[in-house]
Amino acid sequence: MPVSDSVSRPDSDADGDRLPVNELFASLQGEGKLAGVPSTFVRTSGCNLRCWFCDSYHTSWEPTHAWMTVEDIVAEVGELAPSHVVVTGGEPLIHEETNALLSELADDYHLTVETNGTLETDAPVDLASISPKLASSTPTPENAPEGTDPGVWTDKHEADRIDLESLSSLVEHADDFQLKFVVTGRDDMPEIEALVSEVRGVTAREIHDTDVLLMPEGQTRDALEGSRTAVADLAAEFGYRYTPRLHVDLWNDAPET
Ligand code: SF4
Repeated sequence: MPVSDSVSRPDSDADGDRLPVNELFASLQGEGKLAGVPSTFVRTSGCNLRCWFCDSYHTSWEPTHAWMTVEDIVAEVGELAPSHVVVTGGEPLIHEETNALLSELADDYHLTVETNGTLETDAPVDLASISPKLASSTPTPENAPEGTDPGVWTDKHEADRIDLESLSSLVEHADDFQLKFVVTGRDDMPEIEALVSEVRGVTAREIHDTDVLLMPEGQTRDALEGSRTAVADLAAEFGYRYTPRLHVDLWNDAPET
């Protein structure tokens, strides 16, 4: 989902674990097995990858954030109504303090972690929403966001985007999981099939086809208009699950949705 390009809250100078936070808001979960569930989103800033189509540009290509203590984040989450919390990014697991946040929230909330699957966690997680990045995500000078030079990120992204050990660990660690792929077209399917097979080969946990979600690439209603039916058809053909991008359908590209 599109994210804020500026953050109005000041940096905290309080003692304690701090996280770079781009957004903290309540909305509906837009994607995956819990699409439609009222949820509070804590969006950390910073990512170890650089997908060309990143829909949270201000947490990856141009990180924007305020520093918040874990204590203040928990307090602000407590002022909002949802019983579900989604810790997302960027890539939230690049921050050690994310583990402290998850531990603090675990007793009172259902916790989803949205991750690109390249890192592990030992913190409590109810739903690991794992979104491995396909070859089609790699930035090049031709597809990089306007005004951006991918530079070293073309090679770095390509080298780091898949980590089977982390994928296996995340699948096994959380109470539930989903493997959610951003699909740009039929050309992605052989890689998805191969990767699902590889992960099945290294994890002790059963991965049902319905744990594998295909999500259309597109950050605006117009873009989704051109991609969602084709991706839904692919899901039906391959026996995987289709996930909408409800927040785009409902609120187009508005931040904090
Ligand atoms: S992994 Fe996610 S947050 Fe990071 S660049 Fe890719 S889409 Fe953006």
